[in-house]
This record gives sequence, C-alpha cells and structure tokens, in this order.
Amino acid sequence: MLPALAAFGTMHGKEAAFGPPLAALGVALILPEGLDTDRFGTFTGEVPRAGDMTAAARAKAEAARRVIGLDVALASEGAYGPHPTIPFIPAGIEIALWRDGARGQEIVERLVDEQPCFDHAEAADMAALAPFLARIGFPQTGLIVAPASARQRPLAKGLREAGALAEAVGRAARESGDGRAFVQTDMRAHMNPRRMETLRRLARRLADRLAHPCPACAAPGWGMLRTEAGLPCGWCGRPTRLVAREIHGCTACGHSKAMPRRDGLAEAEPGACEACNP
Ligand SMILES: [Zn+2]
Ligand SMILES: [Zn+2]
Repeated sequence: MLPALAAFGTMHGKEAAFGPPLAALGVALILPEGLDTDRFGTFTGEVPRAGDMTAAARAKAEAARRVIGLDVALASEGAYGPHPTIPFIPAGIEIALWRDGARGQEIVERLVDEQPCFDHAEAADMAALAPFLARIGFPQTGLIVAPASARQRPLAKGLREAGALAEAVGRAARESGDGRAFVQTDMRAHMNPRRMETLRRLARRLADRLAHPCPACAAPGWGMLRTEAGLPCGWCGRPTRLVAREIHGCTACGHSKAMPRRDGLAEAEPGACEACNP
C-alpha cells in the first residue's frame, strides 16, 4: 500500500537522513528541483514561519507534491529554542509529516532533542570566541554571523572555515554599535551534524510507523496518535495527571485502539496524586 515514489519538500541535504529508511520500505524520495523551502520560514528569522510547525511542514509537502505531480509527499520541520519545561537548557523539536493528498491522510512523527547543537555567543574577536567554537564543534558545525546590534540581519551563513569566520566576525563587530559580533550555530541540516543525526532517528521512526498497516483498512502508518491521562493512584485509586494509556490509530479510516503504557506502569505513586499529596 506504500507508494513507490514520494515527493520530498526539502533543501539542506535532509535526504541523507530520510532517503535510506524509506528506500528500505521501497519508497524512493523525489526532490523537486528549485523548490525554495526557505520561503516557508528560516531559523534566523529573516522569513517568519507562517503558522505552527505542522502547518509549515504541510505547506512544504503540498508544494513539493504539486511541483512533482505525485499523490504522496514528505516534509520535515524543526524548531529550536529554550526547553519547554527545564530552565536554561535548549531543546529542539523535529517533526516529519507524510501526506497522501489523494486520500487526505497525514501521518506526523515528532521527536525532542534535549541536547541539540544550538547555541550562540557574542564576541569582539576570534580569541574571545574560542571556548564557544570548541563547545559547538566548529568547523563540523557551521556558523551564522551578524552584528550584535542587529541579530536578525546575518552577514554570513554556513561558515565552516576559520578564515571566513574571522573575516565575518571582524565585519560584524565593526558594523555593530557595541563592537561585538553575534555568532550562532547554523541549524540547517547540512550545517549541523547533531541535527542531521536527530533527523536520522526521526526518519527511522517514521519508516517504522509506515511499515505498520492499519488492521482495519490496511493503510500505512498505524501508530500512536495521543496519550490519555488518568493513571490511577496506587493508594486511593483516583485518576492522576500521569499518562494512563496510549491511543493507537489510523489517520486514514479513524480506527483506533487503547493500549497500556509501554513501560507497563499500572499505578501512580501517591506523590503524583492530588488527593493523597495535595
Ligand atoms: Zn485504517
Ligand atoms: Zn491517591
């Protein structure tokens, strides 16, 4: 039931992550020539992203599907910023969206990277930048340089060579009111080996899901759709906010099934119960 060909709305070399696991399922990814996915939003903020991550991925997938003229397309989208729950650490969220335009079916896989290579520094010169460069793994990880007073206006991107970096840092420092350059990790997949590794994990997860057909209609992509809270307290039996079960289902026909937690936990500690531990 999987197509032999799917359009992949991407730039920046993501086919290195997604190509092999999908090829193992018999799906070849076709990249549209000249599709500028940067127009759907950039990490550096020159082009703001329209809507949420899923909407952005859907727009890329649809654009690729139309350009190539296939029923099915894939796109992926990442967002990097402060960790949603842990202060002072960064996190990355990556999603992959598989879209069958003929059936109107979408399959979305998500992944959180809690140790992304996502960082920045301000420095007046290369010497002050050395600890940052060691930390983020330059030159394997590429860099973006802007004046510190105008972070949204990069002077150079994709820097992976010390001479070019020094030149950009000097220029940015001269242009900045405070004499400092703003240097940040380039998050485009081909410039950020850590991100490419995360995308490989995501691609394997998507392929695993596509390999599972729906038991009711045989469409590809049977898997977890959401979780439901309400794990009962081990003392009083009242429902807690902890996950009680996973809902697995099919986005083509709507068939679904409740499954126990995969860690087998059947009761919550009383500490997680609002009645026993208010
Ligand atoms: Zn189904
Ligand atoms: Zn309780």
